[in-house]
Amino acid sequence: MNCPRCKGELTIERYKGIEIDRCPNCQGMWLDYPELDQLEDNIFEADELKGTLVYSPRTSELLCPRCHRPMTAFDYRAYYDLELDFCPEGHGFWLDAGEEKRVLELMQQTRKDLKRKAAAEAEWAGFL
Ligand SMILES: [Zn+2]
Ligand SMILES: [Zn+2]
Repeated sequence: MNCPRCKGELTIERYKGIEIDRCPNCQGMWLDYPELDQLEDNIFEADELKGTLVYSPRTSELLCPRCHRPMTAFDYRAYYDLELDFCPEGHGFWLDAGEEKRVLELMQQTRKDLKRKAAAEAEWAGFL
């Protein structure tokens, strides 16, 4: 497969226990469809509490490295400043350099916020 960003040849690598395809030129990363979920599960497993994955979908300028159709760009879980791309045919996700780290950071933040919320609710219940 070739990088949708710079057309370099993707190489298989292991990242957080997942087999991913990495571009050696631009350091972007291709995840097969279930692998984004596996990546998030490194930090936070409760899928039902993560919120909606795809916000504000729009046509991307990138082509899917598997089927070469235009991908869809979207805001990752309503974080307007993290734009990822996915193939509408269900082939997978494209993450530019460093975006995989932001996904993990945001999962960590979500987990923390939920813990804080649960603690506050427990305190409130105790108060009543
Ligand atoms: Zn590249
Ligand atoms: Zn595709």
